[in-house]
Amino acid sequence: MADASVTAHLRSLYRKFIDGSHILHHHRVLDAYGHLSFRHPLKPDVFVMSRSIAPALISSLDDLVEYRVSDAEPVSPNPLKKGFAERHIHSEIYKQHKHINAVVHSHSSAVIPYTITGVPLRACYHMAGFLGTEGVPVYNISQLYGRDDTHDMLVRNEDLGAPLASLFEDGNVVALMRGHGFTAVAESIESAVFRAIYTQKNAAIQSATMGMLAAATSIGDLTQEEEDIGVWYLSEEEARATTALTEWSVQRPWMLWVKEVEASELYVNSADCVHE
Ligand SMILES: [Zn+2]
Repeated sequence: MADASVTAHLRSLYRKFIDGSHILHHHRVLDAYGHLSFRHPLKPDVFVMSRSIAPALISSLDDLVEYRVSDAEPVSPNPLKKGFAERHIHSEIYKQHKHINAVVHSHSSAVIPYTITGVPLRACYHMAGFLGTEGVPVYNISQLYGRDDTHDMLVRNEDLGAPLASLFEDGNVVALMRGHGFTAVAESIESAVFRAIYTQKNAAIQSATMGMLAAATSIGDLTQEEEDIGVWYLSEEEARATTALTEWSVQRPWMLWVKEVEASELYVNSADCVHE
């Protein structure tokens, strides 16, 4: 890649990062809390996220901070740019998984029930095949606190972040976090945002389905066969095939989502618009 295009690529990532943060807020995957990050394309041992600010309010390159993957500390410390407490979620994932280039951490209320009950979150429909069929793994911080750690459920250091990062093995791209939320990863910002949005949608669909099923069963509205089937989740083959489908088509929703946030006065993105 020539120097000029490398620079253009980095500039396009800055813009995508701000758009992605706005999109995640627009879809209520993030509120005032939660964050998106991406791995620096020229310095793989560095990742970029915003200073500690509500994602909807990120508006310019001045809001962005480069952090070292090694310890989640800023490359150029600046007391005016306070960082998020949970940077180690991102740093440990980038450290353990060289192919991952983007991470979303969310406190989505639709997902929380699956983090505190033992009910497995599974792919229910064709937009969320990436969740797989076995049940998304759950990170339980209560078993991991060190002697001096505050029990506030935040991933505040390397020892708490590393076990979460280790859940992203064997192609797993989402991990639930007990009483906290979830984290989604991908090779691109667009895919990470896509997975976060559709993880939330799948959780809402699964919860509605389970509630409807319980109600129908209680009034004897189902045949024995229907009761035995319960929730008809995707098969392994369906999960695989629909994951491939959504991966090649991710630019379609992305372009719509960018237009949606550009049309809202709430969101400002002053990063250069670059055509690679
Ligand atoms: Zn959090």
